[in-house]
Amino acid sequence: MSARIFAVANQKGGVGKTTTTVNLAAALALSGKRTLLVDLDPQGNATMGCGIDKRALGASVYQVLLGLATLSQARRASPAVDAAAAVLDVLPANRELAGAEVELVDVEYRETRLKRALAEVTDDYDFVLIDCPPSLSLLTLNGLCAAHGVIIPMQCEYYALEGLSDLVNTIKKVHANLNADLAIIGLLRVMYDPRSTLTAQVSAQLEQHFGDKVFRTIIPRNVRLAEAPSFGQPGVVFDRAAKGAAAYLAFAQEMIERVAAGFDRRAPTA
Ligand code: ATP
Ligand code: MG
Repeated sequence: MSARIFAVANQKGGVGKTTTTVNLAAALALSGKRTLLVDLDPQGNATMGCGIDKRALGASVYQVLLGLATLSQARRASPAVDAAAAVLDVLPANRELAGAEVELVDVEYRETRLKRALAEVTDDYDFVLIDCPPSLSLLTLNGLCAAHGVIIPMQCEYYALEGLSDLVNTIKKVHANLNADLAIIGLLRVMYDPRSTLTAQVSAQLEQHFGDKVFRTIIPRNVRLAEAPSFGQPGVVFDRAAKGAAAYLAFAQEMIERVAAGFDRRAPTA
């Protein structure tokens, strides 16, 4: 079966997109799922978090989007997950990617460049995860057009819902015009602080409003997850026993279950 493809998106900055993409990808790989992580952010944080130096790339996602390299030429195996049977490949990114935003404007099929590039390798993987930048830009659009589903990480704080409707509207437009396959798989509560009453309130609101679109797994705030990238490792590799790592390992199982159950294919609503 060819890969299930998920974009991790939220135009808000610093909400845990990259941490989620890197740790979910590594956890899936450790569960024996062949996984490709696509870094669609010029910050290159997911690339670094998988132990690949963004300053020393050959071809990257930039060349792939512009048709200057194929995906199989540009992908790299992550050295961070070296369990015998684990496959974690990365289509890396660095600052060069910022130029693609402008250079793609006049290119044919500008929103579906990634989708077309991925077609070459989808049989090589069980999962493809796309780390989107904090914007609703052409890069994010490429992520949404390539995906079967969107995972939206969010912090349970007062402003969490603000901006969510922009994202949901964008997803609806992409669903209507560019990618009829696209579904919102779910909202993932991250950096969760169980001691805060506000957190509990917002979390309950999310469940009320979005029902089973809210993932069961909750990712706690955990400093080990924040420390891991400076060692070029996903948190689930760096300190597997830490609370945050355990949560991402559980989230990977929830994703595997949802995919096996055939996730909710209704048109995106919210
Ligand atoms: P950007 O919008 O810039 O791409 P992002 O949405 O990808 O950001 P991250 O880079 O994953 O967000 O996380 C932002 C910061 O919060 C990072 O320093 C990260 O290490 C930290 N962080 C993320 N999740 C957790 C967590 N569960 N516990 C503690 N720290 C976390
Ligand atoms: Mg990020």
